[in-house]
Amino acid sequence: MVNESYGVKDRAKNQKHKVECIRCGTIMGELSTCHLRCPKCGAELDCSDKGNFW
Ligand SMILES: [Zn+2]
Repeated sequence: MVNESYGVKDRAKNQKHKVECIRCGTIMGELSTCHLRCPKCGAELDCSDKGNFW
């Protein structure tokens, strides 16, 4: 019972963490804690500049 509720929590957390590329919609890969990169089109996102793609 306890394990099950923890599992749901983890799943929700993981979904929230995923960021879709605003250019092509691909789930962006995490290079490091604050650095995301789209494997498809190469767009990069730094979490210190939220929403700032280059
Ligand atoms: Zn992309």
